[in-house]
Amino acid sequence: MLIIFDLDDTLVDTSAVTTPYLLKKALEKMIENGLQIPDFDNALHLLYTLNQSALSAKEALQNFLEAQNKTLHFLPLAEKIVYESTPSAYQTQVVEGALELLKEFSYKHQLALVTFGKEEIQREKMAKAKIDPALFSKIFICPEKNKKPYYKTLFNSFDYLPSDIVVCGDRINIDLTPAKELGFNTVHFRYGRGTGFTGLKRDVDYTISSLCELREVVEFLALKKILVPDPETRYNAGILDTN
Ligand SMILES: [Mg+2]
Repeated sequence: MLIIFDLDDTLVDTSAVTTPYLLKKALEKMIENGLQIPDFDNALHLLYTLNQSALSAKEALQNFLEAQNKTLHFLPLAEKIVYESTPSAYQTQVVEGALELLKEFSYKHQLALVTFGKEEIQREKMAKAKIDPALFSKIFICPEKNKKPYYKTLFNSFDYLPSDIVVCGDRINIDLTPAKELGFNTVHFRYGRGTGFTGLKRDVDYTISSLCELREVVEFLALKKILVPDPETRYNAGILDTN
């Protein structure tokens, strides 16, 4: 099977570890540049609370600045800290069980990674989390949040049926909807920002709450393939009567 992973909040613990750290840095930078805050701890607490329900750090910062007398002109400065800081400046943590799972899968399956972000930042993040890029047959770091062209390229690059391709990610609309449109199997990892509502449930085939559960999903799909083979296999095996 071909298993396609997302990086942030799927293999790397971004929302729980990296984002709060960077939001704090962004708040400090905005204050340095003139943002008036009565109390730092209260402001940080508000920013973290807003971040928990926001779909992105940008949205959290926007809502935060709206609440601070509409000081939205600080947004570009804060965004720069959150989205352009290099991983050397912060802690990067791998999601529990991810390294073992990737290694195990790499013996039996083909792996790919499709992640949104800046090339050097995503590469450095992987290196810091000790995720070996050599485990993946292909890595795509897309500058825009549209993964469909990359999924199509993967489909065209390898000899897999759509039913033999699995996509695992935390965001339904970004990671899974384009995969579902191509007929791939989709696994929603309820983690990080993807814990809440991030898209249409109809685009989700399987839901997992720990990454290790992906093992069972993949084993089930492999078994399903043996028990219910595709029409061509059934025909070749003499099971399918074409008359
Ligand atoms: Mg993600």
